[in-house]
Amino acid sequence: MKPEKLRHIKKHLLRRLNELQFEAIQAAFEKKFVNDNPSDTVDKASLDFDQNEKLMMKERKMLLIKELQEAIMRIDRGVFGICEACEGRIAGRRLLATPTTRFCMVCMEKMRGPKAA
Ligand SMILES: [Zn+2]
Repeated sequence: MKPEKLRHIKKHLLRRLNELQFEAIQAAFEKKFVNDNPSDTVDKASLDFDQNEKLMMKERKMLLIKELQEAIMRIDRGVFGICEACEGRIAGRRLLATPTTRFCMVCMEKMRGPKAA
């Protein structure tokens, strides 16, 4: 992959990372206003649902932040676009669509198994 293309992808990844980290900080801030131990008079079920939803979203975001950080690290190390399983090259089109991908199409499909295909 050409250096200017890598720079472009890195810039894109950094911007996305900044957005997510900003959202994470905001979410942490909002959490201060949420009661962690609701009394029985509160509609606990719906609150739990809400909390679970938020937790799931938070976990997804944390995972995404980690993936973005790893992708940026791979660019810095010069191993961006190299499959972690077979060390083959990941197709440029695939990288542009999903820069956080760590595996080539072949390995990805192997990992997913025949069911998901
Ligand atoms: Zn591979």
